[in-house]
Amino acid sequence: MNAIAIRGGDEFGGGASAGGRVFTAGLDVSHKTILYLEDISVSFDGFKALNNLSLDIDNGELRCIIGPNGAGKTTMMDVITGKTRPDAGTAFFGQSIDLTQLSEAEIAHAGIGRKFQKPTVFEQHSVFENLELAMKTDKRVRASLTARLDSAQRDRIAETLALIQLGAQADRPAGLLSHGQKQWLEIGMLLMQEPRLLLLDEPVAGMTDEETERTGELCETLAGKHSVIVVEHDMDFVAGIARKVTVLHEGSVLAEGSMDQVQNDQRVIEVYLGR
Ligand code: ADP
Ligand code: MG
Repeated sequence: MNAIAIRGGDEFGGGASAGGRVFTAGLDVSHKTILYLEDISVSFDGFKALNNLSLDIDNGELRCIIGPNGAGKTTMMDVITGKTRPDAGTAFFGQSIDLTQLSEAEIAHAGIGRKFQKPTVFEQHSVFENLELAMKTDKRVRASLTARLDSAQRDRIAETLALIQLGAQADRPAGLLSHGQKQWLEIGMLLMQEPRLLLLDEPVAGMTDEETERTGELCETLAGKHSVIVVEHDMDFVAGIARKVTVLHEGSVLAEGSMDQVQNDQRVIEVYLGR
């Protein structure tokens, strides 16, 4: 049985949720692995963007994924989130949720949240309201904002504001935030839906050094409670947060290990780091 069925029909409002929390009771991580990709291939007009890609992510892990442009990093995220269907291979979320059989919306509901490179916050709404809107199913802005929040929901928003370090900005229109703050707000909006797995594609692109450092701290805080996959080009950033690093090249895994191991891997130096 998949998570959608277990959780019932009312994921974001009431019923199966409390305080806006979303339960993913159906996610079976009894084998400690939250994501299994095996022999995934994706072709675009004969070109193999992913070529027998196999990758496992542990529950609660923070994994960094690096690799040259065109290595297939974004395509891998497209497969995990159901945006792109693989031509071959298997993709499981926990032991029993077959991602290749679910729609993008079902995958999001099952507990996989993705942050794209460009932040998409509601600029005219306050930071607080953005988080509030993200918590609710009903994305029609006016209808959502007039419904009263209960205290558990308020607490969750306050917790998230603290986590993304935007407490002091709660009442400001999101459009007035810096680029980095908008990125954090969008991560906060994802968190309001309680994802088990978070995918962050180049989260520090365009950030100042200080924002980059704070984003690293945020990723480290999120790991454990969530599993986090970070795709990034910024090597200083990756070195600062890295536990296990996967290097993608031409659609498959070239190397995997600690930052030290992959940095000293001759193949990695040749195709990526040495250039
Ligand atoms: P990365 O994120 O590692 O830079 P991508 O996953 O974006 O790499 O792209 C991998 C390869 O697949 C690239 O050569 C890219 O041009 C190609 N590609 C990605 N998406 C498409 C698409 N929708 N149509 C055709 N080619 C694509
Ligand atoms: Mg990319």
